[in-house]
Parts: sequence; C-alpha cells; structure tokens
Amino acid sequence: MKAIIDKELCTGCELCVTSCPDIFEMDGDLAKVKVEIIQPGAEECAHQAADDCPTTAIKLED
Ligand code: SF4
Repeated sequence: MKAIIDKELCTGCELCVTSCPDIFEMDGDLAKVKVEIIQPGAEECAHQAADDCPTTAIKLED
C-alpha cells in the first residue's frame, strides 16, 4: 500500500504525524509520506489516519 498527501488540502495539523509517526512526518508546514511502501503491519494506522484527517488529504492506494 502507498499513501499520498494532497498538498492542496493538507493544513499541517500534524494529526497524522502524531498518530502514525512511522508513516508521516512534517515537511515545513505540511505533512509528507516518509515511506515508499507502507508495510502490512502499519496499514491499519494508515487507514485510521486517512479516516481522521480533517481535510481528507490522505489517499491510500494498493
Ligand atoms: S492529518 Fe491531514 S491535514 Fe493534518 S497534517 Fe496530516 S494530511 Fe495534513
């Protein structure tokens, strides 16, 4: 699975970085995905982060 953050939608609230620090990190004022491939054990966290993102900026792809 891969994650993509839409920079047009991200507000830099840091929620995803706090909840899944192994997947997301801050890059200046916005979040970015720090891993090329999300490992199976981290997929649940990625789904949760995508659901919780207040601006639906996180997209997940298989
Ligand atoms: S939760 Fe959404 S809006 Fe907040 S930093 Fe992450 S991608 Fe950006």
